[in-house]
Amino acid sequence: MSAAAVRLVLLRPGGRRCEPRYDFGRLMQHVGCADMPAMAARLGISVNVVRNWVRRGITWSRADEAAIRCGVLPWEVWPEWADADPADWMPPSCPAEHGYDYLVPYPSGRGEYCAMCVLAAETGPLAAESAAA
Ligand SMILES: [Zn+2]
Repeated sequence: MSAAAVRLVLLRPGGRRCEPRYDFGRLMQHVGCADMPAMAARLGISVNVVRNWVRRGITWSRADEAAIRCGVLPWEVWPEWADADPADWMPPSCPAEHGYDYLVPYPSGRGEYCAMCVLAAETGPLAAESAAA
């Protein structure tokens, strides 16, 4: 079994998964930059950060950023990168936990709401705001 085939799924309290990590050495290999100081210079980061990423792996969002900075796409380096769903580890953006929709501030400026909040406006916090206005 190759190292890439081993997939460790860690769960946080509450059942949400941790952001997956990827082998940073694969990016270094992919872009032909095997030397840590050279890779650090190429990415504009410290050698310590590169050393840490080599040792611990790189998170999904940082893998995206690092690959793009090297002029490649993350799934060209880590094909499994494209299979990850950020909803598995990111908390919903909406405070009512509807999901990941674009948020708009309440008219009062206290908090934010999403499109699902509007649909639930008859019972949701937005209704209370409208009634108070
Ligand atoms: Zn909402």
